[in-house]
Amino acid sequence: MGADSRVILWDFDGTLCRADGLWRSALMVALDEQLAGHGVTSDELRPHFRDGFPWHRPDVAHPELSDPEAWWAEVGGLFARAGKAVGLSEDVAVPLARRARQVVIDPSSYELFDDVRPALTALRGRGWRHLILSNHVPELADIVCGLGIADLFEAVLTSALIDYEKPHPEAFRLALEKAGQPEVVWMVGDNVQADIAGAEAAGVPAILIRQDGQAKRRAADCWDVAEIVG
Ligand SMILES: [Mg+2]
Repeated sequence: MGADSRVILWDFDGTLCRADGLWRSALMVALDEQLAGHGVTSDELRPHFRDGFPWHRPDVAHPELSDPEAWWAEVGGLFARAGKAVGLSEDVAVPLARRARQVVIDPSSYELFDDVRPALTALRGRGWRHLILSNHVPELADIVCGLGIADLFEAVLTSALIDYEKPHPEAFRLALEKAGQPEVVWMVGDNVQADIAGAEAAGVPAILIRQDGQAKRRAADCWDVAEIVG
């Protein structure tokens, strides 16, 4: 088996980095800047961000969103609905969504886990190639670049641009195609449904990372992943 036939597909958010409550925080930043004294709390917004993103409908392909502006227009609609639900007028929604987008695509909104660079570098030294497969925004590759880890990954596949959300089998098929149909492949992620069940249904063994949950294999961090894949 050639060394270049070993691939790990990595989820992004919750796996390589954390950005807890990112979408609500982004809207709060926009509100604080643009509507002083708005009186809206982050907790009030919480229920309105539990649904409505493309990844909440993983059974549906969304080729109509593969243009970043179209994708953000769709998500901007969600921001507008959330704002309206907490008593904001509709005409403030567009500028709020525009500012929130800037926050979401700002690399400083994400906290890279300390183990990522050393563990993935060690894995690469043992012949493993890395790709990212994430349910995320169109600008994910720029975020990865801004976090200073782009050199670790051969490719960044984001659902916004590939038309499919994990756990849809097509998302995994596209990732395997991009990776050149590797002989040995693993998926690593923090979401039991999207990452673990999705990968296994596509014939890819998976490791649940940084989470408790039902999974055959669990890793506390990327060093544990390195132990498991060998
Ligand atoms: Mg995740």
